[in-house]
Amino acid sequence: MTPPETAPAAAAPAVAWIDSGSPCPHPWSPAVCPVCSPWTEGAAEPFDRAGAQTAQLTAAQVLQALPAEASKIVLRGGELLQRPEALELLTAARRIAPQVELWSNGAALARPGVVQAIRRAGATAVAIGLWGDSPESHDYATGVPGSFARAIAGLKAARQGGLRTAVIAVLLRPTYRGLPSLLQKSLPLGIDAALLWAPPGPDRTAHPLLAPMAAIGPYVDAGVRILAAAGKGCAVLGIAPCALATAAAAAEISPLAQPDRRAARGAPCAACTWRDHCAGQPPLRAQLHGWTGLVARKDAPVLTGRW
Ligand code: SF4
Repeated sequence: MTPPETAPAAAAPAVAWIDSGSPCPHPWSPAVCPVCSPWTEGAAEPFDRAGAQTAQLTAAQVLQALPAEASKIVLRGGELLQRPEALELLTAARRIAPQVELWSNGAALARPGVVQAIRRAGATAVAIGLWGDSPESHDYATGVPGSFARAIAGLKAARQGGLRTAVIAVLLRPTYRGLPSLLQKSLPLGIDAALLWAPPGPDRTAHPLLAPMAAIGPYVDAGVRILAAAGKGCAVLGIAPCALATAAAAAEISPLAQPDRRAARGAPCAACTWRDHCAGQPPLRAQLHGWTGLVARKDAPVLTGRW
C-alpha cells in the first residue's frame, strides 16, 4: 500500500531586518561613517553616496519593504524615533510579526511616556547602541557629550517598561578593547541579548574608525563567553568566523550576511564550512593582501537563533 503523500513542513517565517532610512544621528562625514553609511562592502564606487547619512526613505517606502510574514521584524537604519510616523510604522510591523524590535540610541526612551507609547504601538523589544564602555569612549564615538548616560537611562526605562532589551556593541578602532567591560556593565541592567557588531566599510587595516578583524577577534571571543556564561542571547555580525576561536560556535553569526553584503570569495572561503554565515573579508583587503592568513573553518556552524 502506498503511504499517503504528506505535505512538506512549512518553513518558519524568518526574522526580517528592515532598513528604515531614518535620520542618522552619527557625527561622522558620509565618507568615513562606517555604520548606516556610506557604502556597502563590494560597491564599485565606495564614496559615491555623499549625503547618504541624512537620506531618508518615506514612510510609504518603509511600509513597502515590510514582508508579508515574519517571526520578528527588526526596524533599524538610523533613529526611527526621530520620524513623525514612528508609531504607525511600529504598528504596521506588529500586524505582521509577533515580535517587533526597534533600534535606537536610547536618548528618547528615557523621556516620560515614550516607552509606553512604543509598546502600545507594537514594539516588543529595543536594541540600543553602545559605542564604548564608559562616558568617555562612548561620547567620543557619538560626538555627543552625555549620550552614554542617556543610552543607559533609555535601556533602564525600556526594561522597566516591560520591553525586551538588547545592547548593540559597536566595535570600532577607538573602543573595541572595552567590549568585555561594556558587557559586564550591561548585564546588571537586565539585558536579554547583545549584538557584537563590526560595521562594514573600506580597508579595516587602515581605516580610522574600523578595527582590523584579527585585532577584534579575541575581544569578541571574550564577549561571546561572557554572554554564554550569563545565559544571554548573542549575535556576532560583520566579523569573519575564521577571526574567532572556538567561542564562535556559541554565537549566531552574521544574520545580516546577505549576498550584497558579502565580500568576494577567495580560495580559503570556498572550502570553509561557515561560508554561508560569514560576512567575509573586505574586498580591498583581498586586493591589497591577497587571501594570505585566512584559514577555512572545518567545524559545523552552530546558529543559536537567539537574537
Ligand atoms: S575562510 Fe572565508 S568564509 Fe570562512 S570564515 Fe574566513 S572569511 Fe569567512
